[in-house]
Amino acid sequence: MEVTWRGGRRVAYFYRIDLAKPVRPMTLAKEAALDRAMAARQTCPRCRRRYDACLPLRTLGMCLECFDGTPAAPGTYTLPADTTHHLAA
Ligand SMILES: [Zn+2]
Repeated sequence: MEVTWRGGRRVAYFYRIDLAKPVRPMTLAKEAALDRAMAARQTCPRCRRRYDACLPLRTLGMCLECFDGTPAAPGTYTLPADTTHHLAA
């Protein structure tokens, strides 16, 4: 939008602030931060498995399987991502 007066000698520009904002304001960063917070509550510090539900870390400090051997139902957890490569040769 442009407004001109006094015979075009002075020109003022108006910007819509809502159009100047980023289209996607930090959505991915927020999701990543939220995922890290959730992972801390869902990951067993002993076996490093990440469960679908939050673990009783305050009371047990580990998952039930590590605590008393109660087997976790398959599909309720994911194995930790193996960042180290163990080559056979
Ligand atoms: Zn565990």
